[in-house]
Amino acid sequence: MKTNEYIDLEDRFGAHNYKPLDVVLDHGEGCWVYDVDGKRYLDCLSAYSALNQGHVHPKILATLLEQAQKLTLTSRAFRNDQLPLFYKELSDLTGYEMSIAMNSGAEAVETALKLARKWAYQVKGIERHKAEIIVADGNFHGRTITIVSFSSEKFYRDDFGPFTPGFVIVKYGDADAIEKAINPNTAAVMLEPIQGEGGVIIPPEGYLKRVSELCKKNNVLFIADEIQTGLGRTGKLFACDHEGVKPDMIIIGKALSGGFYPVSAVLSSAAIMGLFRPGEHGSTFGGNPLGAAVARTALKVLTEEGLIENAARMGEYFSDQLAEMPQKNIQEIRARGLLIGVQMKTSAGIARPYCEALQEKGILAKETHESTIRFAPPLIIEKETIDWAMTHIREVLAK
Ligand SMILES: *Cc1c(COP(=O)(O)O)cnc(C)c1O
Repeated sequence: MKTNEYIDLEDRFGAHNYKPLDVVLDHGEGCWVYDVDGKRYLDCLSAYSALNQGHVHPKILATLLEQAQKLTLTSRAFRNDQLPLFYKELSDLTGYEMSIAMNSGAEAVETALKLARKWAYQVKGIERHKAEIIVADGNFHGRTITIVSFSSEKFYRDDFGPFTPGFVIVKYGDADAIEKAINPNTAAVMLEPIQGEGGVIIPPEGYLKRVSELCKKNNVLFIADEIQTGLGRTGKLFACDHEGVKPDMIIIGKALSGGFYPVSAVLSSAAIMGLFRPGEHGSTFGGNPLGAAVARTALKVLTEEGLIENAARMGEYFSDQLAEMPQKNIQEIRARGLLIGVQMKTSAGIARPYCEALQEKGILAKETHESTIRFAPPLIIEKETIDWAMTHIREVLAK
C-alpha cells in the first residue's frame, strides 16, 4: 500500500482527534524511523519523550518477548513476580518510599489527584469534599474530563463540560500567585516543572524551590507532573532536581516503558501512599507483569547506558548549535537537556510549515502552540547525528 492509501483509510475509519504529519512509519531503530517507502527520518519528538531509550531498544525488546511468553496479566486480584521488583527498583532509583503503577499518564495524574484529596481529608483535616488543588495556567496533564476541567486551553474544554470542581488556576512561573491562592482548604499544588505541551516553558529560576517551600510552610502537598520532563529528558533524573527540590509526589509515565507499552506511576512517601486502602483505587492492567518487566528494563537502560548524562551533554551541544545559527526567524530558544523549544518570530509565521520542510529533509519534529518547534530526540543521540541534523535545521529555519 502507498502512503496516501494508509492516510485515506485512517481518515475514513478513524476519529480525527490528531493532525499528524503525513508520514506513515513502519519501522524504527534507535533515533531513526522509516516510512513505508523506505525513507529515513531522525525522530526529534520521541513520542513526546516516551522514547527516551530510542526505538525498539534491543534489551527492552528482549524483556518484552521473554515476559510475553511467560505471563502477561494477572490483574491485581492475584500477585505476580514482576511488580514487587519493579516497585523496589523504582524506589531505589528515585528515593521515594512507595509507588503505585498505572498505565497512561492521565490515569496516573488522576491517581495523584485522588491521593491528594484523600490526604486532605484524612491527614490535613479539610472538611470532606471541600479540598482545592492549585494548578498552573498553560498546563497539560492529560485528557480526562477531570483533567480538562482545569485546563486553560479553551479548545480542550469547549464542548466537554460539565467539569469537576475543586481546582484553582494561577499564572505559571509566579510563586506569589500560588501564595495568594493558598487557603485552609488547599490540599495540593500540581505543576509541570517545565511545561512541555505548553511550548517548553521554563519557569524563572528559584520558582520550584519557592513553591516547594510555600507548600511545606502551609501544609500543602507539592505534586510534580514529570511525565514528559522526568526520566532523564532534561539531563537529570527529574527536572525538579535542577533546583534540588523533592516534591511530595512525582508522576511519571511515557519513557517509563521505553515506548513499548503504557506504564505510568505515582511516587510518594509511605505516609501518603499508605493512605490508599484496598478497593479505593485500581486498574485491571495497572501493575501487570508484562508492563512491570518492560519498565524494569527500561529503567535499567536509562541508568546503565548513561542516558541521563548523555541528555545533559548532547542537550547542551544541540542548543549551542541552535544558538549559533542565523537568528533571523527565531524569537527564543528554550532548552533544558534534550527538551528544546525554538519559538519562531511572529514575522516568521506559524511553525507548522517549518516542520513540514524539516520532514522533507528527513527530520521529524512537531510544532507546539502554533509558533514553537520542539526538538526532543531520543536520549541516545550522538554528536554526529546532531551535526547531520543541524545542517538541515539551519537551512530550514533560516528560510
Ligand atoms: C503526555 C503527558 C500527560 C498525559 O499522558 P498520557 O499518557 O498521554 O495520558 C500528562 N502530563 C504531561 C506533562 C504530559 O506530557
